[in-house]
Amino acid sequence: MNRNEALFNRAKAIIPGGVNSPVRAFGSVGGVPRFIKKAQGAYVWDENDTRYIDYVGSWGPAIVGHAHPEVIEAVREAALGGLSFGAPTEVEIVIAEEIAKLVPSVEQVRLVSSGTEATMSAIRLARGFTQRDKIIKFEGCYHGHSDSLLVKAGSGLLTFGNPSSAGVPADFTQHTLVLEYNNVAQLEETFSKIGSEIACVILEPFAGNMNLVRPSENFIKALRSLTEQHGAVLIYDEVMTGFRVALGGAQSLHNIKPDLTTMGKVIGGGMPLAAFGGRKDIMACISPLGGVYQAGTLSGNPVAVAAGLKTLEIIQREGFYENLAKLTEQLVNGFQTASKEAGITFSADYVGGMFGLYFADSTPQSYADMTRSNIEDFKRFFHGMLERGVAFGPSAYEACFMSAAHTPELIDETVATAKKVFAEMAK
Ligand SMILES: *Cc1c(COP(=O)(O)O)cnc(C)c1O
Repeated sequence: MNRNEALFNRAKAIIPGGVNSPVRAFGSVGGVPRFIKKAQGAYVWDENDTRYIDYVGSWGPAIVGHAHPEVIEAVREAALGGLSFGAPTEVEIVIAEEIAKLVPSVEQVRLVSSGTEATMSAIRLARGFTQRDKIIKFEGCYHGHSDSLLVKAGSGLLTFGNPSSAGVPADFTQHTLVLEYNNVAQLEETFSKIGSEIACVILEPFAGNMNLVRPSENFIKALRSLTEQHGAVLIYDEVMTGFRVALGGAQSLHNIKPDLTTMGKVIGGGMPLAAFGGRKDIMACISPLGGVYQAGTLSGNPVAVAAGLKTLEIIQREGFYENLAKLTEQLVNGFQTASKEAGITFSADYVGGMFGLYFADSTPQSYADMTRSNIEDFKRFFHGMLERGVAFGPSAYEACFMSAAHTPELIDETVATAKKVFAEMAK
């Protein structure tokens, strides 16, 4: 009896689609999702007791490996002292100071419980600060599921977006302009026409929700100079890239100081914790100091903060990111060689502990590029690997994640598995 299948059927009867977040349902790859029983280090086990080398890493948080003994101990200790108080605690100050130390553009921080909350609050804050309504986002970037961000591009430049989800009134997205990632000319044209009306530009500084897409240097420079010139707030959504691509996040690699930054995933070390922060003059507009309202019963939860703090401690140890990047590079290079040998059209890219696999002859520059990759090949690859005990995210549009618990031997094993799968695909 396959327990994954039985559990999926049981789940579907009581939870819509059987899952609490849609991508988990395997909708875009087909088949039965694995119900996870436990995780340790670089591995997860499903309810059939099948073990997988895991490159999902809870979609990014598990950077030090699953159930790291020091993180678990920190959580246990914090839990013994009480789960939630609804009052300020010292550890909230400690983690805020730590974040500001690691990400210098962040002068003040507020803690929340999810990336969605962080980006939603940062946008409200940018609007309150600038007293403007319009926002710019880029096609293919995901910033959580708040109403004004669930939007797809309108029919022309300067036509505002249409809701990409049922249940979002068109009125709610009429202030969101969706532009093409890496398209500098379009960005310049937009600012020259309506620059004084733009409250903020939000982007994934390495996009990871349309697979991995790198920004060009010109794009990053244009973003910073145009927002500065027109008094718009530049928001780096580092919920995925923060503490993932480098200790100081994408902004440290771009050598850019955004006005606001959102963080999540890694800073919670697997617990519900996220944050937004940035310039002190902007952060001063938040309640109780300013008129922009924002709150949360579980914000800065002591158990989540304990997991986050311990994770932030571990990633600052000597050689952490050098090791992580070396592992990722080994995997990406191994896959490239193996695919070439098998004659499969494939390319790959990585930044720090984050990587992208594409069934296309070059790495994508935009969402439109990404849609031209071979999705059927991705599905075959995904299932071929999963059946042989290697787990990637169940969608061609997701980035993949390395952890410090992976080893060169595990990567060799993964590459050897990929060789078999590529050979099978080439038949
Ligand atoms: C995951 C993610 C979010 C949303 O975070 P949740 O914690 O899932 O709400 C927002 N922005 C980016 C870039 C993300 O990767």
